[in-house]
Amino acid sequence: MIGIVLVSHSAKLAEGVAELARQMGGEDVALEPVGGLDLPDRPIGTDAVLVSSAIDRVWSEEGVLVLMDLGSAVLSAEMAVEMLPEERRGRILLCEAPFVEGAIAAAVAARLGRSLAEVADEARNGLAPKVAHLGASPGGERAPLAEAATAAGGPARTVRLLVDNPLGLHARPAARLVRTAGAFDADVRVTNLTNGRGPASARSLSAVATLGVLQGHEIEVSASGPQAAEVLRAIEELAAAGFGDEAGGVREVEASVPGPTEPPIAAPEGALAGFPASPGVVVGPARHVRAPEIQGPTEPPGEPSKEWAAMSAALEAALREIRATRARVAARAGEQAAAIFDAHALLLEDEALLSALRRAILEEGRGAVASWTETIARVEASWQALDDPYLKARAADVRAVGRQVLAHLAGRAAAPAVAGEGVVLAEDLTPADTAGLDPARVRGIATALGGPTSHSAVLARSLGIPAVVGLGRAILDIPEGTTVLLDGDAGLLRPNPGAELVAEALRRVAEFRASEAAARADAAEPATTRDGVRIEVFANIGKPEDVGPALEAGAEGVGLLRTEFLFLGRETMPTEDEQESVYRAIAEGLGERPLVLRTLDVGGDKPLPYVPVAAEANPFLGVRGLRLGLSRPDVLLPQLRAAIRVAADHPVRVMFPMVTTLQEVLAARALVERARREVAAAGRRTPERLQVGIMVEVPSAALTASALAPDVDFFSIGTNDLAQYTLAAERGNELVAGLADALHPAVLRLIHMTVEAALPLGRPVAVCGELAADEAAVPVLVGLGVRELSASAPALPRVKRAVRALALEDARTLAERALRCRTAAEVRELVSTASARC
Ligand code: PEP
Ligand code: MG
Repeated sequence: MIGIVLVSHSAKLAEGVAELARQMGGEDVALEPVGGLDLPDRPIGTDAVLVSSAIDRVWSEEGVLVLMDLGSAVLSAEMAVEMLPEERRGRILLCEAPFVEGAIAAAVAARLGRSLAEVADEARNGLAPKVAHLGASPGGERAPLAEAATAAGGPARTVRLLVDNPLGLHARPAARLVRTAGAFDADVRVTNLTNGRGPASARSLSAVATLGVLQGHEIEVSASGPQAAEVLRAIEELAAAGFGDEAGGVREVEASVPGPTEPPIAAPEGALAGFPASPGVVVGPARHVRAPEIQGPTEPPGEPSKEWAAMSAALEAALREIRATRARVAARAGEQAAAIFDAHALLLEDEALLSALRRAILEEGRGAVASWTETIARVEASWQALDDPYLKARAADVRAVGRQVLAHLAGRAAAPAVAGEGVVLAEDLTPADTAGLDPARVRGIATALGGPTSHSAVLARSLGIPAVVGLGRAILDIPEGTTVLLDGDAGLLRPNPGAELVAEALRRVAEFRASEAAARADAAEPATTRDGVRIEVFANIGKPEDVGPALEAGAEGVGLLRTEFLFLGRETMPTEDEQESVYRAIAEGLGERPLVLRTLDVGGDKPLPYVPVAAEANPFLGVRGLRLGLSRPDVLLPQLRAAIRVAADHPVRVMFPMVTTLQEVLAARALVERARREVAAAGRRTPERLQVGIMVEVPSAALTASALAPDVDFFSIGTNDLAQYTLAAERGNELVAGLADALHPAVLRLIHMTVEAALPLGRPVAVCGELAADEAAVPVLVGLGVRELSASAPALPRVKRAVRALALEDARTLAERALRCRTAAEVRELVSTASARC
C-alpha cells in the first residue's frame, strides 16, 4: 500500500484532515499529517525536515503521495524530497490535488491497494462530486493576445493533448512548443479546451503563454499548410516528452513554489521576511545595487526606415547579449538554468511582437523607442493579467528583456553597477543581472520585489548564492555598509543583527565549513585503497576557470574536458587558433597532469547554428557526438589540429564521444592522423605519441570492446549515456528517470565486459559519468577493475575518501555480487549494507 503525507501550514489543519481521511480510508492507511515549524510555539509554517521525516515514516516501495495546502507547503515538500536519498525521490509524487477532498479520495484508493498513479488520479478527481453538485463550469475570458492571434484558414488537422507538466506550459515548455511549431512550414494554432482560451498562434510565445495552460489542461493543436502532419507529429512527441521539462535542476526549484502573495513566515522582531529563494546563511555589509535609469532619445522620430533600422539593430544586439549570457550561465550553472534565456531570446523573435512593431514604425511612422516601449508594455500587461501566479510572475522577464532592448536603443548599459563584496540589496534583479554577479564577491542577494519563482531566484540557487526575495521596499532604506544577516533558508534579512545573532549565524556557517573542510583536508593526498591499490581521481571540467577549483579539490588531472562550452551559444565556429589558446590555457593550468580532451559532443539535441542538422524524431539516436564529427570533418579536423598543437607540449589525450562501431573508431583515427599531418605541414610541432581513446556510452561499444581495444589507447565509460541507452530511458525525462540508474546490473555487466576486454591488452578503463561521483558506487567500480574515476570537482574529496576506505578483495567480492543482482534496487541495497545477499 502506498503512503500518504499531508502537509499544511497549520498542524491542526493537517491533523484534522488526516482524521477525516482515516475515517474514510480506515486506520490501516499509512498516513502522516505534518504542519507547523519544529520550534516551540510555532504551529504555523512548514518545515522541510519535518516533511522529510513524515515521508520516511510512511515509506513504501510502492511510493508516497504528498498533498500540500498552499504556498511554502509546496516549497517545503520539494525541499524534503531533495533531502531524501536519490533512489527514493522517483517514488514520491507531489500531487496538486485539492487538500481536503484529495486526501479523502486518496486514503480510500490507497486502502484498496491502488498504485501511486491511480491514487493520485483519484485525489485529483476529488473535487468532481462538488463540481457536479454545484454545477460549476470551467471557462474563462479569452486572453487579448490569444484572440488577436486567431486567424483565418480552416485547420487541416488537429490533435488534442493533455498537459501534464506541473507548472503547465510555463515559459520554457511554451518556448519549446513555439520552436517546434516554427521549424515547419505550417500554420499552427493552439486552443486551451479547459478554459476556452484561444486559438493562439503557436509561433508566438506570448500568445501561447496567455492561453494560461496549467497542469491537467487539455489543449487542441490545429495545423494547416504543407507540413501540417509533420508539425503535429513533432508536437505530439514533444508533449509526450513533457515538453522537454526535466526533473531536478531548475524545474525543481520552480516547481517548488507556486507564488504565494504573502511571505511564508511572519518576521521575527528586528528582521524583514521575504521568500527563501536560495539556501545558505551569510553575514556581510549591505551593498546597494541600483539599476541605471534608461531613457530613450527624446528627439522626434526620424525616417521610418531609419527608425526600423535602429529597432532591428537594438533587437539584434539584445539577442546577441542574451545568447552570450546563456552560454555563460550554461557553463556556470548548467543547461537547465541557462534555458531561461531561450525564452528571453524567443520573446525577441516573437512573430506577434515583431509585426506590432513593424506596424507602429513603418505604417504609423512612430519612433522606435515609443513603439518598443508601448509594444513591450502591452505584452507585459497581458502576462500580468493572467490568473496563474507562476505565469503572472513571468511578466518580470518581459520587463527585463524590454529594458535590455531599450538600453541598446538608448546606447546605454542595462546592467546595474555592482558594489564591493557583501550582501547585494536591490529593488529587483533581472536574470541577466543575476548571471553577471560574481559569486566570489557577492555573498548573498536580497531583493525588495520578485517572488520565489522569479528566474533570478532560480538562477541564484543554481549559482549557489544564498538569496531572499520579495523583502519589501524597506530594504532599500538600509544604509550602505550596514551589517546584515541574510538567512536564505528561512527567508529573513536582519539589519544590524547584534553580536549574539551574528555569532550564532557564524557558528552555523563555521559548522558547515568545518564539515566541508574535513572532507577536503586530505583531498590533495592520493587515493589508495587500504591494500595499496592506487586509483587515479580526475576532474570533469567544462572551461578554463574550472581548473583551479578542480586542483584545489584534489584532481590529479582532467578525465573529461567537455569542449562544448567553446562551441555553444555563438553564431560562428571557434577558429583553430582560438581553440588552441583555450586548450593550452587549460593544459598549462594543469601543469604536468593529464588532460583528456573530448571532441565536440553536440548534435540534434544541442544544435549549433553553424552546423545545421535536419530535425530528427529521436535526436539522442541521431547525428550526435562522433557521428556529427565524422559527417562534418570541417568541424572535427580543426578541433583535432588544435588539440594536437597543444599535445606537442602537454600530456593531452584525445577522446571521442558516442562511439558505436569499429568503423567509426578507424575513421576517427584516420582523421587524427590527417590532422597530425596537416599540423606538421603547417610547420608546427606534433607530439611524438598521442593517446586516442573512446567513451563507452553506447551498449554496442561495451559489447564489442574486445574488437575495439586493439585500436584505442584507453576507454572511459560515460555512465550517463550508457545507462540511458541500455535501459532505453531518456536522460532527463522525469517519467523514466527512475529507470536510468547506472547501478543497474545491466550497466554494471557492460562495464565488466569493457574491463575484461581492455585489461588483457593493457588498456586502462576510466569512469567519467555521474556514477563516478556516487560514493556508494565507488567500491563496485573499483572491484570491477576501474582504476580511474573522473567526476565534478566538489565530489572529488568524497570520492577519494571512499577509495581509501576500501580493500580491493572486499571490493571485488562486492562487485561479483552486484553483477549477480537482478535489479538496480538490489545493487543499491547491496552497496548500502555491503552484507546483503543478492
Ligand atoms: C556520460 O554520458 O556519462 C558522459 C560523461 O558524457 P556527457 O554527460 O557529457 O554526455
Ligand atoms: Mg555522454
